[in-house]
Amino acid sequence: MPGIYLHIPFCKHKCTYCDFTSFPDKLSFAEAYMACLYKEIEMRGEQLKKETIDTVYFGGGTPSVIDPSYIYGAMKQIKKCFNLSKNPEITIEMNPGTVSEQKIALYKKAGINRFSVGLQTAIDEQLRDLGRIHTAHEYLYCATLLKGENFSADVMLGLKGQTKEDVRKTIELAALSGASHISMYALTPEDGTPIYTDYLNGELPDGDEVRELYDYGYELLKKHGYHRYEVSNFAKKGKESRHNLNYWRRGEYIGLGVSASSFFYEKRFTNTFDLDEYMKCILSGFLPVIESETVEKEDAKFEFVMLALRTVYGISSKKYKEAFGSDWRDDFKDAYQKTREYLTEEGDITRIKDEYLYVQNQILTEYMNG
Ligand code: SF4
Repeated sequence: MPGIYLHIPFCKHKCTYCDFTSFPDKLSFAEAYMACLYKEIEMRGEQLKKETIDTVYFGGGTPSVIDPSYIYGAMKQIKKCFNLSKNPEITIEMNPGTVSEQKIALYKKAGINRFSVGLQTAIDEQLRDLGRIHTAHEYLYCATLLKGENFSADVMLGLKGQTKEDVRKTIELAALSGASHISMYALTPEDGTPIYTDYLNGELPDGDEVRELYDYGYELLKKHGYHRYEVSNFAKKGKESRHNLNYWRRGEYIGLGVSASSFFYEKRFTNTFDLDEYMKCILSGFLPVIESETVEKEDAKFEFVMLALRTVYGISSKKYKEAFGSDWRDDFKDAYQKTREYLTEEGDITRIKDEYLYVQNQILTEYMNG
């Protein structure tokens, strides 16, 4: 069953590491943008109404920066235009600097049952460095409002001056505040972002230092009862993100909004990254797609293997055979032989050994060559 992703591209302020499609100075467009998004939901709904939707995800940008009635309206539109499964997972990303009790109440009324909160770090100085608009204390306030809810906290590694003690404080804040899921990502300094200068100046921890922080964080997360199900994602039992699992299982998804991408019927579509163009297209009655491609069988096989090996669930030979009619170990004979020492096999499942999951990218590179 496919998932729906909705991109809300507005933010209060641009973070120093951000290269997402997000506009810190265009909040006044929110009403017009959301009207277009409702229209796009309707257009895609007409095309895909027979699909049952199992997950909905509001990402951004900062979905919690706009008036919550727009999110409520989007959910109403999704319910009208698509079939939702009996027990869908509906997530919204929230920035702790933009939350209130009323907002959360309206999200819940709209059917949202999972919240993804950007904590990043418990150290206020590092939050300031990242250009985040909130403090650790504001995160705690947000977590208090979410008490008893299913919520995830994002934390980052590889920050300027970050020590193990900082990682400990951050993970403990996330864990003790009741997060059922924690995403622990290494910062990727992207060219063109302000933080890239820090990277060029050698002010950020290097690869080995980040690895040490990761290993330390991983041990702490285990201690707090989170299991790793993907290299950067940790959950309490049963609280894994179904929306992301669908991506990693090469499931179909419908992306709506500026810069969103979709994958269904073995085709991939990308919407325009330009806000004006997005709205003009929709208002003229066209889908705002700037790129579409059919995924060839050989690429589909590679995607299947690469995505499955990212998770601790690994590749199921049976599922691969059902999808492609062959054995993945034959299709990727050379890569499989070269990477065998990093893999573990149990029944029909092959996965990367725990100790090598962090360096999965190096292992997966072999599969690019078939
Ligand atoms: S809140 Fe998120 S999307 Fe917005 S600027 Fe910061 S990192 Fe980018």
